Amino acid sequence: MDWLDQVVRLKRWTKDGVRAPHKPLLLLYALGRYQQDTEGGLRYSAVEGELKRLLAEYGPANPTTPGYPFHHLVSDGVWEVRTDQGLGSPGSAVGALRSSGATGRLAPALRTALGEEPALLGRMGRALLDAHFPVSLHADLCEAVGLDLEQAEGGVEARIRRQRDRRMRELILTAYEFQCAFCGYDGALGGSVVGLEAAHVRWWSHDGPDEVDNGLCLCSLHHKLFDKGVLGLGEGHRILVSRRFVGRSEASRRHVLALSGRTVIGPQAGVAPVAERHREWHARQVFHGEPRQPVG
Ligand SMILES: [Zn+2]
Repeated sequence: MDWLDQVVRLKRWTKDGVRAPHKPLLLLYALGRYQQDTEGGLRYSAVEGELKRLLAEYGPANPTTPGYPFHHLVSDGVWEVRTDQGLGSPGSAVGALRSSGATGRLAPALRTALGEEPALLGRMGRALLDAHFPVSLHADLCEAVGLDLEQAEGGVEARIRRQRDRRMRELILTAYEFQCAFCGYDGALGGSVVGLEAAHVRWWSHDGPDEVDNGLCLCSLHHKLFDKGVLGLGEGHRILVSRRFVGRSEASRRHVLALSGRTVIGPQAGVAPVAERHREWHARQVFHGEPRQPVG
């Protein structure tokens, strides 16, 4: 059995451009749970809430039930369902799945393959993500299903790095009260923040520490522009916009050019703002050319 091929073929379930990520999401979730406990089964009534949230956040807008993939994934050969009566799914109706004690797990042949070749877990995870989701969501999805791809691919150092990333994100987002330090964006979806990221001022790859005075909470757009050197930090925690940046539309004016000269929002009282040495590093090494004049 070519498991990677199997994973990508789940895609065929989609048709006419309609997105149906239910099976890929369930399989990702199952891989994440398998990584934490290779023996454990997923009892429908126990995981229904988590699967529902996952579908609401990453699935299409129309409401949907986790019973559907829980039952139908069996036909793809990667998943099995047992009830209190034995092997076999009671169908996709949630009432039956709950009352029968339906419990799903990766198919035995897949579990054997994963046992023989542990790196397969990481490769399947990547294949699933690549085939069904845009790159910008991969890290969020892994976090949501508890799948640690770097660990699955065998890097201890990468795992430690990832744990540190998570801590840094929590530290910075809290320090800036879940708001973009440049524009004030503070969007949330279903109670969790969306489109907000922890940015390193001095890059981690260039000896930038995971400290609150080396971080900014930025929305995805401003994080990208800050890392690309379109935006920078000047003296007095004022935002710089590069003269090389060109944007003629009203949107570019509002989201980028108008930031020039504005003061950074946050951090909250008692938390260290961006340190001068990190600010200088970014200004020298990342920021592009001369800053524009602040808009009047
Ligand atoms: Zn922003």
